[in-house]
Amino acid sequence: MRVNQDERSKNAIRIQEICNHSESTQLWQGPFMRLPNSKPMAAFADHRSYMYKGREIDKQVHLGQDLASLEHAEVPAANNGVVVFTGPLGIYGQSVILDHGWGLFSLYSHLSQIKVEKGQKVNKGGILGNTGVTGMAGGDHLHFSVLVQGKFVNPLEWWDPHWIKDQVNRQLATLVPAAATTKPMVSKPAAAAEAVPKTKAKTGKPKRH
Ligand SMILES: [Zn+2]
Repeated sequence: MRVNQDERSKNAIRIQEICNHSESTQLWQGPFMRLPNSKPMAAFADHRSYMYKGREIDKQVHLGQDLASLEHAEVPAANNGVVVFTGPLGIYGQSVILDHGWGLFSLYSHLSQIKVEKGQKVNKGGILGNTGVTGMAGGDHLHFSVLVQGKFVNPLEWWDPHWIKDQVNRQLATLVPAAATTKPMVSKPAAAAEAVPKTKAKTGKPKRH
């Protein structure tokens, strides 16, 4: 369906614009939080077909994670950040976008209600609004996306404390040497408590730092 595709690319451009400017400090800490007590409905990079009157009218790659909980479930901020967008966003419906700093953003869509305002600072777990069916949603659920420099990435990785610790922090330490000295997350384990979950990682691999 042309409307679907036109609208989709319009929405993608809009999201790109919103994610053009990011805080120059790292606001997020540790793994991202997912919608509590929710079941995954669709995963990142799922291929889906849109059917109309028994015919496939559109094919799309899903750029986020769909999570279903109770109707109108409260949606927590996945991590600390600043609200950079609230409002209708085409197929995504009523949406909130958070800037977590250093080009990292999260998107919450199909909301029935939004309880934050643009410019507002939020903490991990702070309520952004409620799930719903606004935009192109088959049923009450949360569409959750993570974007890096305006590019959709797999949210699963950002929920995973091991991945955050091994991949992201190490990468950031290499890319942003200043951050490694001001942020204690890659140095002593004791100092890293805020960035790393308290459960001990049993990877068996010795940490290089
Ligand atoms: Zn979705």
